[in-house]
Amino acid sequence: MKRVVIIGSGLGGLSTGVVLARAGYGVTVLEQGQQMGGCLQCFVRRGAKFETGMHFIGSAREGQTLRRLLRFLGIDDISLSELDTKAYDIVRLGSDEFRFSTGGDAFVEQMCCYFPHEAKGIEAYWRCVERVANASSLHTLSPENADSAVSAEYQMRSIDEVIGSLVKDPLLRNVLVGNLPLYAARRGRTPFSTHAFIVDFYNQSSFRVVGGSDTIGFALQRELERYGGRVLTNAKVVRIHSDANHVTGVSTADERFFAADTVVSAIHPAATLTMTDSPLIRPAFRQRIASLPNTVGIFSVYLDFKEDTMPYLNSNYYAYRNGISPWDCEDYTPDDWPRGYLYMHFCHENQPRYARAGVILSYMRFDEMAPWLGTTVGHRGEDYERFKQQRAERLIDAVERSFPGLRSSIRHYYTSTPLTYLNYTGTPGGSAYGIARDISLGVSCHVAQRTRLPGLYLTGQNINSHGILGVLVGTVVTCSDLLGTEHLFRLIKNANR
Ligand SMILES: Cc1cc2nc3c(=O)[nH]c(=O)nc-3n(C[C@H](O)[C@H](O)[C@H](O)COP(=O)(O)OP(=O)(O)OC[C@H]3O[C@@H](n4cnc5c(N)ncnc54)[C@H](O)[C@@H]3O)c2cc1C
Repeated sequence: MKRVVIIGSGLGGLSTGVVLARAGYGVTVLEQGQQMGGCLQCFVRRGAKFETGMHFIGSAREGQTLRRLLRFLGIDDISLSELDTKAYDIVRLGSDEFRFSTGGDAFVEQMCCYFPHEAKGIEAYWRCVERVANASSLHTLSPENADSAVSAEYQMRSIDEVIGSLVKDPLLRNVLVGNLPLYAARRGRTPFSTHAFIVDFYNQSSFRVVGGSDTIGFALQRELERYGGRVLTNAKVVRIHSDANHVTGVSTADERFFAADTVVSAIHPAATLTMTDSPLIRPAFRQRIASLPNTVGIFSVYLDFKEDTMPYLNSNYYAYRNGISPWDCEDYTPDDWPRGYLYMHFCHENQPRYARAGVILSYMRFDEMAPWLGTTVGHRGEDYERFKQQRAERLIDAVERSFPGLRSSIRHYYTSTPLTYLNYTGTPGGSAYGIARDISLGVSCHVAQRTRLPGLYLTGQNINSHGILGVLVGTVVTCSDLLGTEHLFRLIKNANR
């Protein structure tokens, strides 16, 4: 039996572990934290449960891509609650609200009601989204539909350039990128393909995970263990060992050595490369990976609602201040923060009447964390607590303007900053989504799953893309390299017969 060590127990590490354990590998997943799951983790305070990094998922109806992947992984028994099909996303710009309907035709129809003078442009935009999404064999799991020319074109054109070429109305242009915090896009930089994949993914169908996103992590752990694999927590990998030709294992901060024929790192590639000094990995490659930009971090306010006071919001609510577009919100000044936010409720049971808990998210740059660099959780000092409280109050005030009565429904609230994410996931700068795709860098920001050190592979959100589908597609890419692409696609197909 070949021994595989996987570094990191987020979605990428766990799902890769399941696929390889099923294929007969002896899999050990090593997790630095006390709790496994990375961004799938939830926490419980005073009986309320909060998700930290997976609040809703898409394309999970029967036959859709994510559903097929969940079934392939053996975890399609997780319980899902569908978001409002007439308003899975609500975008507020100034004083106007715009609702996104599930399904391409319904989406176009609804947008045309708001912007009848742009009917042609809206139709053209939607066909473009579909064409780009369907051109990717990975996004659709249908190699026969792949169109590499379309994929290549829209990986090199920015979101704002493409949308600007299709619609004229500046307000409509902003509405179409209203859910931009889901991928932290930058004007003139983020490829249109990133937008198309995410928009198409959630438009097919959108769901919350009933009981919290950690149920995905537990289901993956159950599958992993069923095939003889294991997850060890409190096991921070600090070194990847190799001989002249091949990887030989890893060692942890507490000096345990795990021998391995294959090491798959499911953490940030820059952090991975600091753990090996193998000369097979060239300095130019190390430099390129270390210099890639990462997406901005997030400030979260977790809301614990008083019993039966807050009607469940079955939509995601994105709002931007008067005169502010969804673009450039991370270029805020301390005075005009937050320029925008995303507000959501958690789903403790299928279609609950009242929400028990919710979250408000807004961008936060890592430079704001400078005074507390090097401090540890719970020991960052009173000024840090004051900073978080001031920011939380501002965010709650902002949401209260759209949801009068919010404040009086809150029993307690808790906060997290990019420093929290740095601590819990190890992502540089507490970046929300890892490496930023940037058309000005061309293929340089593409990170391959295979390294030049034989036996060392990469997986997780930095390989393909972030988010549940982006990461699972990354798992397919990495496991295809180990098991064979055709074989893996056959397994996915067979699981869905
Ligand atoms: C605030 C927020 C909200 C989000 N909301 C959604 C959403 O609604 N829907 C969606 O699809 N996606 C969402 N995402 C994105 C999604 O959560 C991530 O893309 C995905 O979970 C990343 O998985 P991963 O396995 O690549 O990395 P991670 O989840 O970051 O896991 C990496 C793991 O590796 C561990 N680790 C790090 N270094 C070491 C080491 N040296 N040794 C051992 N272990 C180590 C970490 O502790 C962590 O457990 C959100 C992200 C954020 C930040």
